Amino acid sequence: MPRIEGQRIYRAPGRVNLIGEHTDYNGGFVMPAAIDLYTQVTITPRDDRKLLIHSESFSDDVEFDFDDPHPIASGHWSDYVCGVAVTLERAGFSLKGAALEIRSTVPIGAGLSSSAALEVAAGYALLDNSAIQIDRTELAKLCQRAENEFVGMRCGIMDQFIACFGQAGHALMLDCRSLDYRLLPLPPGVRLVICNTMIRHELAASEYNNRRSECEAGVRNFAKFVPSVSSLRNVTLNDLEGYGRDLPEVIYKRCRHVVTENARVVEAAAALEQSDLQAFGDLMAASHRSLRDDYEVSCAELDTMVDLATQVEGVYGARMTGGGFGGCTINLVKADRVAEFTKDVARGYEQATGVVPEIYVCSTADGVADL
Ligand code: ADP
Ligand code: MG
Repeated sequence: MPRIEGQRIYRAPGRVNLIGEHTDYNGGFVMPAAIDLYTQVTITPRDDRKLLIHSESFSDDVEFDFDDPHPIASGHWSDYVCGVAVTLERAGFSLKGAALEIRSTVPIGAGLSSSAALEVAAGYALLDNSAIQIDRTELAKLCQRAENEFVGMRCGIMDQFIACFGQAGHALMLDCRSLDYRLLPLPPGVRLVICNTMIRHELAASEYNNRRSECEAGVRNFAKFVPSVSSLRNVTLNDLEGYGRDLPEVIYKRCRHVVTENARVVEAAAALEQSDLQAFGDLMAASHRSLRDDYEVSCAELDTMVDLATQVEGVYGARMTGGGFGGCTINLVKADRVAEFTKDVARGYEQATGVVPEIYVCSTADGVADL
């Protein structure tokens, strides 16, 4: 299709977290990969300071004025785009008006971060449309701020960071404390297969807040013995054994998950650097057990999905991914075994639960780019 004068197209990927769960808000390590499901923004310049935003996913149009003195979120999907525009303006970037056409292949609300894909694609498009250059770390932080402050979602930086920095053929290990990162090679013969339980238990939000408080209680305990401890990131396995004895059992288990999970991410990075997918898969399995037994954020449906996957040949590793209490599992599967995997797991899950799962077969992808 011929483009209109000045029209440009940008896209940002969804993501899946391979290992490192519930570590982000403890200043720890995560290891997401960008996936080849994208949110695309087609932008056409305007001469005024208005945004006309259309989302194909919602068949809906919204108008926004940069000069609105009191922009507020309305609980509408467009908050994610307007929030980015407002946050960029508040950070001192003067944006030009534009029409934005949004279309996406990232499933919405499935835990694959359609929200960050939208924020980052829209933010990048708005800046480029205004001839403004910005580094990707800054863009990721501003998009996170938009989601935290404008939309009102208390999310970490992982989603926006991987939407900016993902690279095809790689996973990314991110230090959530320093934002240092390392790209790690994923061999070409492996697929990221994501199985959606289609379940979202009510508990998710309240238990998320409980876990955060439990981790804070753990930090207060360890800081009594080791004053330099300000987050569970600073707690070692030795500290856990030495100073965790008097903790209530539940707090001890929460801390043990976070401390061992951080160690697993470090080991998983080394495994990828040695192309040792077997070792990587074993770490995924250990992560799942820890999330199930120590952090207690799994559920019957996630456990069933992981058990079914583990029985299929050609699976290196399987575990729940995301906050838990439903959502998705991530499975590292040999490319030539994907068809059987999908068939067996879908059938087994439907038999066990009566629910038809969605399964997304993905490859790794690049971060935000213009097309
Ligand atoms: P996730 O990021 O896991 O997909 P979230 O609840 O964080 O789920 O974000 C989903 C929300 O992001 C949607 O309800 C909608 O408001 C917004 N969104 C995501 N993708 C689109 C899209 N293509 N068009 C419009 N809004 C979108
Ligand atoms: Mg999201």
